[in-house]
Amino acid sequence: MKYDVIIIGAGPGGIFAAYELMIKKPELKVAVFEAGHALDKRHCPIDGEKVRSCIGCKSCSIMSGFGGAGAFSDGKYNITNDFGGTLYEYIGKKQAMDLMYYVDKINMQHGGSGCKLYSTAGTKFKTLCIQNDLHLLDASVRHLGTDVNYVVLENLYAELQQKVDFYFDAYVEAIDIVDGGYSVKCKDTSYTCEKCIVSVGRIGSKWMEKVCKDLAIPTKSNRVDLGVRVELPATVFAHLTDELYESKIVYRTKQYGDKVRTFCMNPKGAVVNENTNGIITVNGHSYEDPALQTENTNFALLVSKHFSEPFKDSNGYGESIARLSNMLGGGVIVQRFGDLIRGRRSTPSRMEDAFITPTLQATPGDLSLVLPKRLLDGIIEMIYALDKVAPGTANDDTLLYGVEVKFYNMEVEVSDKLETRHKGLYIIGDGSGITHSLSHASASGVHVARDIAQ
Ligand SMILES: Cc1cc2nc3c(=O)[nH]c(=O)nc-3n(C[C@H](O)[C@H](O)[C@H](O)COP(=O)(O)OP(=O)(O)OC[C@H]3O[C@@H](n4cnc5c(N)ncnc54)[C@H](O)[C@@H]3O)c2cc1C
Repeated sequence: MKYDVIIIGAGPGGIFAAYELMIKKPELKVAVFEAGHALDKRHCPIDGEKVRSCIGCKSCSIMSGFGGAGAFSDGKYNITNDFGGTLYEYIGKKQAMDLMYYVDKINMQHGGSGCKLYSTAGTKFKTLCIQNDLHLLDASVRHLGTDVNYVVLENLYAELQQKVDFYFDAYVEAIDIVDGGYSVKCKDTSYTCEKCIVSVGRIGSKWMEKVCKDLAIPTKSNRVDLGVRVELPATVFAHLTDELYESKIVYRTKQYGDKVRTFCMNPKGAVVNENTNGIITVNGHSYEDPALQTENTNFALLVSKHFSEPFKDSNGYGESIARLSNMLGGGVIVQRFGDLIRGRRSTPSRMEDAFITPTLQATPGDLSLVLPKRLLDGIIEMIYALDKVAPGTANDDTLLYGVEVKFYNMEVEVSDKLETRHKGLYIIGDGSGITHSLSHASASGVHVARDIAQ
């Protein structure tokens, strides 16, 4: 029960840490503990027929298990320092980019080759956006798609399990400092290690807070992103998505000066439920395989909310708003843009009358009863701004699903090695509050593995 390195969490951060250790130091005894299931056992029961909404499984297969929250994601690896995390603040911009390209190379070697790398560099859309007071951020994006992403994970696991011990359905309860390293406590057994890499993602945020408190690791937290997921006919955004796949566009509202941004664009994709600690919010994904694509494109419109003293619980604020939508709609609420503008709720009959078919079964309702006025005003202003570069965005039948919340884990105090004040204890990925994306989380895993290998 003694390992050189124990990794907690088998999301992209944990997987890439394990992979890099296997390549650079194959003699090390490494174990990965994952609260969720093995990849082939991960199934969300929502089938749209018998099970239409989240039934709160003990282990959420969307968020947990081999592949982490990324397993059924759209597999969009954004290679950029402009968004997706602040890893560059710790390790430098060049190194962060190098690591993200390295992760991309490994993904290509494990089944991703053939997937297109899109780029915003030199695109005419930058000009079009700026002419309309919209700002297109720089990025390269490798779109694996949910299907290819799964294949890449299968291949990585096949290779990893030959060298690394995997423990699935193994929720780690606590980490204790012991002589010569750490003790990792699961239900019945404890395991010890010299180095411990914690990569528990967003779903592990509450647990992470407790660990930091117990081990006196300083943290800070003051941000949450709130908004809606927009769904419209794919043709409205086709000129952008065909060339860029994903466009991250930022707009500063005239009314309040708040920044609203597009996030996680899924051409011909589907809107999905997301369950974070029992709260149902909305997200989206899409497939690379044309047979699995839909006629709609979806993306989020988010407003970042930073709080000042004395309020500290930004995630609690986001949760309360999400709970409100769950209370009114029993889950996610959907509203036609035209209904929102006219100040009336969407009803099942108004939804049936629409020219668009929603890809998620959500409750027709009124988002103005859920989202604070300032946020909703900003989102409406952004929709009209986007309508200038993608006419049709502000059509009556554009669907808005709410709420979409990006919870940020509190930011943990770590060094440039992503090591805490306790030697040999590293915190990486979304659980550290430093990354918020597949590529940044994966890159952080490679970074600590190289430090340990040295
Ligand atoms: C539906 C959806 C779509 C997304 N699409 C994209 C996208 O296209 N592009 C993008 O860049 N990002 C996307 N994301 C975000 C992306 O998935 C995350 O940023 C990324 O997975 C973070 O990786 P991670 O390793 O830090 O954490 P995670 O992937 O969250 O993995 C953490 C793992 O740790 C496990 N764990 C937690 N606590 C414990 C514990 N106490 N003991 C043992 N195990 C534990 C969890 O079960 C989980 O499997 C999406 C997310 C979702 C939910």
